[in-house]
Amino acid sequence: MADDTAHSPATRLVGLGRPARQPGAPVSPPVELSSTFVADGPVNYGRSGNATWTAFEDVLGALEGGRALAFASGMAAISAAMSLTPQGGTVVLPEHVYNGSSSLLTSQEEQGRLRTRRVDPTDTAAVVAALDGADVLWMESPTNPMLEVGDLPAILTAARSKGVLSIVDNTFNTPLLAQPLSLGADVVVHSVTKFLAGHSDVLLGAAVTANDELYERLSLHRVMYGAIPGPHETWLALRGMRTLHVRLERSCANAAELARRLADHPQVADVRYPGFGAVIAVEPVGGRAATEAVEQRVRVWLPATSLGGVESLLERRRRHPGEPETVPDALLRLSVGIEDVEDLWRDLDQALRG
Ligand SMILES: *Cc1c(COP(=O)(O)O)cnc(C)c1O
Repeated sequence: MADDTAHSPATRLVGLGRPARQPGAPVSPPVELSSTFVADGPVNYGRSGNATWTAFEDVLGALEGGRALAFASGMAAISAAMSLTPQGGTVVLPEHVYNGSSSLLTSQEEQGRLRTRRVDPTDTAAVVAALDGADVLWMESPTNPMLEVGDLPAILTAARSKGVLSIVDNTFNTPLLAQPLSLGADVVVHSVTKFLAGHSDVLLGAAVTANDELYERLSLHRVMYGAIPGPHETWLALRGMRTLHVRLERSCANAAELARRLADHPQVADVRYPGFGAVIAVEPVGGRAATEAVEQRVRVWLPATSLGGVESLLERRRRHPGEPETVPDALLRLSVGIEDVEDLWRDLDQALRG
């Protein structure tokens, strides 16, 4: 299918990234397993290009409004994007972001590679003030796992006017709920492992940009550091992405309904749900012990880290030593899948009541 921006995201997710339409052509792209290519073509060697990557990248790039590069994992894409920070530069980021991103920046700060300024993303004026003299803005909205929502249009506009390179981790939203490049972001990164691939069976990452110079730098980083995805994994992610709109619609509807019911549950002290998306954070009455009991009692929900799959997962976030102490000890993050909402509710309700 030729790309047509007049088509809706659902149509583009299904139709893009397929071989040219001609008699006898396969409908699905190949898993291209070749480490090298006959000389003088567009690609010489498998570390710099692969037809399965291209199929995946064409779909994600179109949806985000830029050109995508697939990486071996979300963290590989994040490392590539963070490498755009100049030596000694300052990075502004929310206090709560994905703990891998936070830890990477902390370790680079300790090595003297860069400096960080951590801000409350819901305080737009504070974020904008922190951008003065900064080099890079790192954003997640909603944040993981506190689900704080920043004013992305205002913050990205300010970054642009102050000449600060902006990078947005769009994993929680997917391009169906937010397209940061259209709001002024320079680079979008994804843990494709989550909603995009959607089946908890593959790790993959991606970086997307509409800026040619940044694209070349990220592409060179991928070649040089070798953080390349396997063709099989990329193919699985592309296959998963074909149903993103259907999965996300169900997961978001389930999450909205569960968040509404949880707010009235006698065993729930606090519910965080930004009003969109498929991730909820709750604090059961009774603190950490109560949260750990829920993890033990669920039968439909799986106690496991990660999110964005067809199956519903939950976990106490502070079980991870890297999680900051400002995240409540009892906070239980729920990733809502596509199961029947009544089954999810009954299971959660019995686990909370004990
Ligand atoms: C999981 C996650 C990552 C890391 O991605 P991997 O694919 O596990 O390397 C980055 N950002 C967010 C928001 C995530 O949820």
